[in-house]
Amino acid sequence: MNNLGARVRIVLLVLAAILPILALTLYNGLRERAAAEEAEREKLSLVAELTAKRPEQLLFHARQLLQAIAANSDELLRDRSSCRDYFRRMALEAEGVFRSLGVILPDGELYCNSALPDTVIVNVGDRPYFRLALESGQFVVGEFQVGRTSGRSGINFGLPVFDAEGRVRAVLFAGLNLEKFIEQGESHLDHPGRPGEGLVTTIYDSGGLVLARYPPSEKYMLGKEGPNPFLLKVLKRHQKGVFTATDSGGVQRFYAVEHVGLNPDGISPIRVVVSKPVDVVLSDANGALLRTASGVIGVALLVLLVAWYASEVFVLRRVRALLDVAGRIRAGDYSARAGFGDGREELALLGSAIDAMAAELQARDGQLQQAIRQLNEQAITDQLTGLPNRRYLWDRLGAELMRARRRGAPLSVLLFDIDYFKAFNDRWGHEAGDLVLRNVAHAIRRVVRGSDIVARHGGEEFVIVLPDAGEDIALARAEALRREISALSLTFGGEALGTITVSVGVVCSRDGTATAEDLVRAADHAMYEAKQGGRDRVKLAAAP
Ligand code: GH3
Ligand code: MG
Ligand code: MG
Repeated sequence: MNNLGARVRIVLLVLAAILPILALTLYNGLRERAAAEEAEREKLSLVAELTAKRPEQLLFHARQLLQAIAANSDELLRDRSSCRDYFRRMALEAEGVFRSLGVILPDGELYCNSALPDTVIVNVGDRPYFRLALESGQFVVGEFQVGRTSGRSGINFGLPVFDAEGRVRAVLFAGLNLEKFIEQGESHLDHPGRPGEGLVTTIYDSGGLVLARYPPSEKYMLGKEGPNPFLLKVLKRHQKGVFTATDSGGVQRFYAVEHVGLNPDGISPIRVVVSKPVDVVLSDANGALLRTASGVIGVALLVLLVAWYASEVFVLRRVRALLDVAGRIRAGDYSARAGFGDGREELALLGSAIDAMAAELQARDGQLQQAIRQLNEQAITDQLTGLPNRRYLWDRLGAELMRARRRGAPLSVLLFDIDYFKAFNDRWGHEAGDLVLRNVAHAIRRVVRGSDIVARHGGEEFVIVLPDAGEDIALARAEALRREISALSLTFGGEALGTITVSVGVVCSRDGTATAEDLVRAADHAMYEAKQGGRDRVKLAAAP
């Protein structure tokens, strides 16, 4: 965390700030999807209810018919062949809804049947619906069965009829033609939204055997159990409602299970199941959730991008400018300024503080440089005469010699000393001596040129370096100097001080190859010779 850049920190901060909003939006999206799923399940349940209307009608129709026939049961039980003719007429009138109609005696013997000739004797006493009708004395809907003699499959309805003592005389039956169970396409139109997309309707008996299916499927054979074990369990447990399960093709589906009718044993004999693939049902809700999620991600990215660039524009640019200014100040550039103006914002205040600090440092540095310059000057200047001192002379002489050597040019050195100065001081006093020294310095300045180097070498001894000057020029200049000084007429305390004379030693290096020490020593030697020769004169030294 300590090494994260300011920019990353700002972006993380922004992310932390928007995270709750993003999470809430996503949470709402998920809740909307859940609500949509609930609504779709209810819709499917409604479709199942509507689809169940048709089997309910058939059950009602069969019951009505059998009850109407029951009113004529005395007559029917009188003669087998007229009974059969009667039921044949009935079957025709029912327009193919029933494949067979007839009467069973209490011992299970088939008394008459619209679908069979009288000569065929069959006992159906073991059929569960017949037994239940016999025992309960009520209208019963049977399970899937295959006709004993006809070989045709379907389900049967049974209604007992009673004698005067209330004993069961016979059971009327009607075999339903299974093709009538689903009116093709009807239930699909009832479905709101995309009609029929992926919608499958299956009708089962109470044992989970398939009675009808639309659209038809090879996996769902009439009279056989369906291939979906989950659904089979639901049907066998007589559960109803909306369930989610994977079908035999591996597709997640919603199943709405509706019960039709109620047998005397408390079990509903017909079950209508409508199902739809989950992804078809929820495609709108999933699309909405996807849009919400991508919206959330998009907004998050946008906000982070803005934070990334805004941190650069509003913060980092200034921080970097401050770092740059600090770096320049550290390197000694006190003219560096942030120049943020006089805003009240913290970085602007920091910029102003740094600028003020830099200005202060710059001022102090100026004073310091000035002091150093003065000190330097003082260090190389003689206080009494204002001429450069011995140290300056030796620095410059070395440099000038190097220059002369490079160019192969001559260089001359004059060294002179005031004659009998000790005696002068003794006579006139030290202050008068100082006056002389100052005036000698003036005289020297009048004689030399700007490019020449003059220095007080010590006491009453002076040195003049003449770059580019050969012997002739040097001797002429020495002579001029001697004359200039001896021409001085100085007074001290109202009294004339008398003539000041000097002895001058001259030495010349023709190509600058001599060392400074050799030159000065030679000049000093020549000056000494001038003293020896009687003073107030110029003496040329032999080249060193
Ligand atoms: P010579 O002709 O041989 O040079 O004799 P001199 O007396 O000049 O020789 P010396 O070197 O013995 O004397 C130099 C004198 O210069 C000694 C000192 O009193 C004097 N002097 C040196 N510096 C100063 C100064 O700054 N002011 C004054 N007033 N006198 C100085
Ligand atoms: Mg001296
Ligand atoms: Mg002297």
